Amino acid sequence: MTLTADEVRARLLTLREHDLPTHGGRTLAYVYDSGRPDVDAVAREAVAAFAGTNGLDPSVFPSVATMERGVVDFLAGLLSAPEGYAGTVTSGGTESCLLAVLAARDSRPDVTRPQIVAPTTAHAAFHKAAHLFGLELTLVDVDPVTFRADPAAMAAAVTDRTVLVVVSAPSYAHGVVDPVGPIAAMAAERGIRCHVDACIGGFVLPFLADESARGVAQGRPAWSFEVPGVTSISADLHKYGYAPKGVSALVHRSMALRHSQFWATADWPGYGVVNSTLQSTKSAGPLAAAWATIQLLGEQGYAALARQARDGALALAAEVGGIPGLRVLVPPDSSLLAVVTDDSCDPYTVCDELLERGWFAQPQLPFRGGPASLHLTISAATTPQLPEFVGALADSVAAAQVAGPVAVDPAMVGLLATLDPATFDEATLGGLLAAAGLTGAGGALQLPRRMAPIQALLAACPPALRRVLLTAVVERL
Ligand SMILES: *Cc1c(COP(=O)(O)O)cnc(C)c1O
Repeated sequence: MTLTADEVRARLLTLREHDLPTHGGRTLAYVYDSGRPDVDAVAREAVAAFAGTNGLDPSVFPSVATMERGVVDFLAGLLSAPEGYAGTVTSGGTESCLLAVLAARDSRPDVTRPQIVAPTTAHAAFHKAAHLFGLELTLVDVDPVTFRADPAAMAAAVTDRTVLVVVSAPSYAHGVVDPVGPIAAMAAERGIRCHVDACIGGFVLPFLADESARGVAQGRPAWSFEVPGVTSISADLHKYGYAPKGVSALVHRSMALRHSQFWATADWPGYGVVNSTLQSTKSAGPLAAAWATIQLLGEQGYAALARQARDGALALAAEVGGIPGLRVLVPPDSSLLAVVTDDSCDPYTVCDELLERGWFAQPQLPFRGGPASLHLTISAATTPQLPEFVGALADSVAAAQVAGPVAVDPAMVGLLATLDPATFDEATLGGLLAAAGLTGAGGALQLPRRMAPIQALLAACPPALRRVLLTAVVERL
């Protein structure tokens, strides 16, 4: 039984009905809306036009080399890369971070147990890189007030096995920029690479340099290639680059630094393989869309969108201060906010209440002594909607206060503390999901409309148990 083309189109539209909206500015995580349908339309045409073009071999698809160079050159300009820089377009922020780690590891074959030193706020992508590529990840606690990396503690954690030091500009969870200057200088002095993860800030921060003149910020410390010890920077086109999903970039200070990122073999009977990324055959669609978006927006377009997102974040931070029960955890350096509640309610219930009102905020669980919070990514299209959002947020907090903080059964917390996730089998996991109220008829997974009780339960679990339970849920979706 096949469907007609029109039936397939109709089905595809129906499939999206229960998804979060990708446009309209009401989804404050996962998606980035420029509010420019004219730009989106061309980007979509570009994805379609290049969907079948293979980025595996730019020697026979020269369009790929041209567009990749165009995207990297544009980004390198924003990041003040010196002459001689070399970059790669990747499938996403995680791949950009993975490749920075891989390049660092393979530039030091003399180190037998290579190590990454990163602040605890570094993106999960670096945990993944350490896992996949067999490096040790040493996490260093951040300043408990500013949530920024601590240069002295980072320096103390570096050893002669360290091949990469990581900083964020800004960090995803707290939206603050690490002190790149002193940390990159320390790394350079010891001959270690320093990667700046600007996956989420790379297309915003370059346009906020004039803030001290506007009286908003007190001068912004340098964080890009202007800082001498910075060896590579990642920036996501599919975030504030406002391209459709599937595209990011990694820029190295020099071609020599990029060299060890490549993997090649001629040791099999087929074509010679030279891979700059983890993928081999890959669609040129996302690259083409990023290239098209850059042509349409240009520096001026990005500057206006970055300004709009930043002004929105600052305005929202000010409004949050006026809502009883809410507080911004730390003043934002970019366009991301972490918002915490007082004891009158909890952030998970606030997220549920916001969803009821048509807004998505992302709950963040407590971590290493830090509080649970709501994550808000402000994209350009959210800013004009802020008056409505602030109303919904105030109403949501009021409703959450009436309900009070969601309670977790102390017996359940006691039980969770005794569990060793390493010993779990399918039956244990099934039983835990059922006990958490996550199963419906026949034991199938069923996510409730309100997730606060689940989030509160996860918050009571140590991270190792959270990881196992979250995996069990996603495996069953
Ligand atoms: C989003 C993000 C990443 C990972 O990017 P994906 O595109 O989700 O793979 C890495 N670092 C930071 C700071 C991010 O915000």
